[in-house]
Amino acid sequence: MKRLLLFILGGLLLLTGVLCVRTLGFSTRQVTPEPPAALQVDADAAAERLAGALRFKTVAASDGSPGEDAAFDGLHGYLARHFPRVHAALKREPVGPHSVLYTWPGTDASLRPVLLMGHLDVVPVVPGTEASWAKPPFDGVVDGGFVWGRGALDDKGSVLGILEAVEALLAAGEAPRRTVLLAFGADEEVGGREGAVAIAKLLSERGVRLESVLDEGGVIMSGTVPGVQAPVALVGTSEKGFVSVELTVEEEGGHSSMPPPRTAVGILSQGIARLEARPMPTRLQGGSRELFERVGPEMSFGMRVLFANLWLTEPLVVAQLTSKPTTNAAVRTTTAATMFQAGVKDNVLPSRARAVVNFRILPGDSVEGVLAHVREVVDEPRVKVSTLAFQSEPSPVSPADSDDFRALERTIRQVFPQVLVSPYLNVAATDSRHFVGLSDNIYRFFPVHLQREDLSRVHGKDERIAVAGYVDVIRFYAQYLRNVAR
Ligand SMILES: [Zn+2]
Repeated sequence: MKRLLLFILGGLLLLTGVLCVRTLGFSTRQVTPEPPAALQVDADAAAERLAGALRFKTVAASDGSPGEDAAFDGLHGYLARHFPRVHAALKREPVGPHSVLYTWPGTDASLRPVLLMGHLDVVPVVPGTEASWAKPPFDGVVDGGFVWGRGALDDKGSVLGILEAVEALLAAGEAPRRTVLLAFGADEEVGGREGAVAIAKLLSERGVRLESVLDEGGVIMSGTVPGVQAPVALVGTSEKGFVSVELTVEEEGGHSSMPPPRTAVGILSQGIARLEARPMPTRLQGGSRELFERVGPEMSFGMRVLFANLWLTEPLVVAQLTSKPTTNAAVRTTTAATMFQAGVKDNVLPSRARAVVNFRILPGDSVEGVLAHVREVVDEPRVKVSTLAFQSEPSPVSPADSDDFRALERTIRQVFPQVLVSPYLNVAATDSRHFVGLSDNIYRFFPVHLQREDLSRVHGKDERIAVAGYVDVIRFYAQYLRNVAR
């Protein structure tokens, strides 16, 4: 008995020792770079130029109606007028209906080019809600320290910010050693088929291998990581895949006075209930795991013990993460039943029931794996399983220790010295997924500092960007190009 107690005590001491040593060794991984080189930015003029670009109603539409043609053509003309140096020094190639690829040739042709991306299209404003916006969504207004309008954040702030940066570097007489490509798609919001897909295909046919790709995605957020006071720059090193699974049940119709034990509605409902009860398994990996490894050291001692010892505490951490929808999405393929249709009349048996379940696929899982999971869990031959047309596999995970990631990290800390930098998993899809075959280093980050309540402005109402924040966007892109292309 005494020996057993001693043994347990010894074990506990050893465990405490291991936990302490690991926690003490869990020190900051944030870099401290030299300050950025100076850059001339006229904040008011830049804000006005962005506001002007928001006035073109470049709403993404798959049918390509003439009204939209005029808006996109107008925007391209506007960019040519307002960024004269860019349009004199860079080669401009139209791609597809309204997308464009710019090439800024580097002085050393042996280096692989870097690609910066953005998109010119915006999501529509929900009809009838225009009047509830603080400023009309397509008026492009600068007021109260903000540029207001649809596209200010997603994604004209990024496109114009990149163009401002290149224009400023050209004005300063700076030239890149590495070729810089700028790819601006016109259909990101509807899948990117004629924009990013076409541009990626063009580059691939030319045999281009890209050093790195920088697209929209993560932003700088305050208050998103529990236990961390400082804002965190979330750099997407991977993104989730997407598949919508259609479930259908076809049964005899007929009069509802003599029904079978289960109608098509009941059979399908049971399938949905089973899918909700048995979500796909969790994994704390890739960007989601790296997030805790990067920002964990900045937390309180108790939290550091937790994150320095994930080998032991992972189940605890994962249980905590799965308890909220926002963090649950970071550790598993999510299941969302989004559509259900059946029946025509209260006294008629439904001959058909149809449901759609949307899955956002964690890197490591696949469309095929999701389908296998659905069939196994639904476990009912009368439920037919198929997929809707639009789908994408999750991306590979880009390294968080590449030269390009380090350049990105250094740039963020130069322009935003108070901000912590971390990889993370993008839960939404971006156009960058179409460049997976062209580079191993694909990063998703838009250098703007947002508060939690600002997130609903993206695709929602009152979209806006702070003028001061927009100046930082410009500084960021310029410094990034200096760091990565020189
Ligand atoms: Zn976007």
